[in-house]
Amino acid sequence: MTSLPGPTAEEQVVFLGKVERILSEGQYVATYKYALLLAIADLAVKLGCDDGSELDLPIRAIAEEFIELYWRQSAPYGNSVADGSYNILQQNTGRQAAIISIVDNLRQAHGTLIRARQSPAWDAAVAEAARLVREMPLWRLQRLRNEVLDFLYAESPVAGNIRLKHGVAANLRRFHAIIVRLAQSEWMHFIQSLPGNSQLLGPTSDLSQFLFGADRSALLRMSTPLADVQKGQCLYCERRVDSGEIDHFVPWSRYPRDLAHNLVLAHKQCNRHKSDLLAAEVHLDRWLARNQAHGNAISDAARTANIIVDLSGTMSVAGWAYAHGASLHAATWLQGDEVEPLSGRWQFLLIEYG
Ligand SMILES: [Zn+2]
Repeated sequence: MTSLPGPTAEEQVVFLGKVERILSEGQYVATYKYALLLAIADLAVKLGCDDGSELDLPIRAIAEEFIELYWRQSAPYGNSVADGSYNILQQNTGRQAAIISIVDNLRQAHGTLIRARQSPAWDAAVAEAARLVREMPLWRLQRLRNEVLDFLYAESPVAGNIRLKHGVAANLRRFHAIIVRLAQSEWMHFIQSLPGNSQLLGPTSDLSQFLFGADRSALLRMSTPLADVQKGQCLYCERRVDSGEIDHFVPWSRYPRDLAHNLVLAHKQCNRHKSDLLAAEVHLDRWLARNQAHGNAISDAARTANIIVDLSGTMSVAGWAYAHGASLHAATWLQGDEVEPLSGRWQFLLIEYG
């Protein structure tokens, strides 16, 4: 495959402007378009590259992302209401969104997303969600009131796929954090604006954490298994850790999904110092070595804790995050208040362990 030049600075600005327009000017009767934008941004990180090439995405893969996004959102919200009815947030101005019943059926039958994925019912649910994606948001996302901004994707010659246009995957990768934050914030405001949700949403509710935050209880279940594979040590300073925290190695602010192999045990202090920075290459080396040696143990523990297991996706995310950091000359966190630039060693490490 020949490599194309990535989008120019001007093309990047135009792209972001169009994303902003579809989010602010598009007509929204349900939350599907936000989910669709988040899904293709995530798939661009996992499957795309940084040159200007087109990228085919199976609609089924988008459908799986939908089920994952709506899984947490369709959990009962807050305290149960007086009449005992199931308190699920509305995702639609009219009747509840159809994706909710697909997800709710899986939840009733299998309990957790991990078990649902392994069940024979999974394929049919994904097919149903894929049909919904095709019928509802797919060909509406790029439509404004009087204008069609078809800059993101078109039908692919490959049946069942869409094709991201030249430069789109590269732009989604470059602006992933910004696009995710925009889409999540619009999604949250939409849910807050629906009258049907006003009873559920008290003035103090932490809606953002519920909709998009890390699954804290699942992360806690990883403490013991991660302490086992890290021999009771903090991943970063390698000192003994007694009551540590679970940290996202590629920071949550850059990639807000819980992936099992991205989780590490660390001191509260180390975690706080690292904050939203990428970890220095010496830490990357240790993290890759840990995953190579204990990848299976981490997978097993994560399945029990109901956390997504996708080692190759996690590696793609790390490759994307470090390449992005390098392009921005980002500082990486070493220890305490010390930071350092990337040397380029990260590329060799990712190839060596890839
Ligand atoms: Zn530490």
